[in-house]
Amino acid sequence: MQYPEPIAKLIDSYMRLPGIGSKTATRLAFYTIDMDKADVEAFSKSLMAAKTELHYCTICGNITDEDPCEICRDKGRDQKTILVVEQPKDVMSIDRTNEYHGLYHVLHGVLSPIEGRGPEDLNIQSLIKRLQANDAVQEVIVATNATPEGEATAQYLARLIHPAQIKVTRLAHGLAVGSDIEYADEMTLLKAVEGRTEM
Ligand SMILES: [Zn+2]
Repeated sequence: MQYPEPIAKLIDSYMRLPGIGSKTATRLAFYTIDMDKADVEAFSKSLMAAKTELHYCTICGNITDEDPCEICRDKGRDQKTILVVEQPKDVMSIDRTNEYHGLYHVLHGVLSPIEGRGPEDLNIQSLIKRLQANDAVQEVIVATNATPEGEATAQYLARLIHPAQIKVTRLAHGLAVGSDIEYADEMTLLKAVEGRTEM
């Protein structure tokens, strides 16, 4: 017996999410059917709102519902330092430590020859433009993950930025090799930012 089409479609939608197989998707679909109509409506509304009301900040590439984002608009932040991360969620991780008060730049990935991702596929050009347009910046902290691709991307950025006479630093390796910023605890991140080294 086949599932009625609306259930089959819902299962299919859940299966598109990362880490969700057919068993979990089926369980979630049947759970959704049992939910209150108001809750399902709120759920579908928040899905659409997340998609339509959020976009990338035209300055730093972070996710925002206003452009420029809150961080870029905040003149109280240290305008001399830009911390470069792979993903918007890394901004949240580092900002939660409450110890870094500078600006951010989100690359949206790392260089990966295997996956065919080059500099033009990342948010790098806008970083260079940003540095050229703003001579207040004295240091760029590269906080890509401690993976081979993250390291290669950091080296690439350092070579690109050095001619501009701006200091380029890398997070200290309190972060385990191969580890993601996303999963590091606050103390580890704090130590990694404090102990950053010049590239
Ligand atoms: Zn921004």
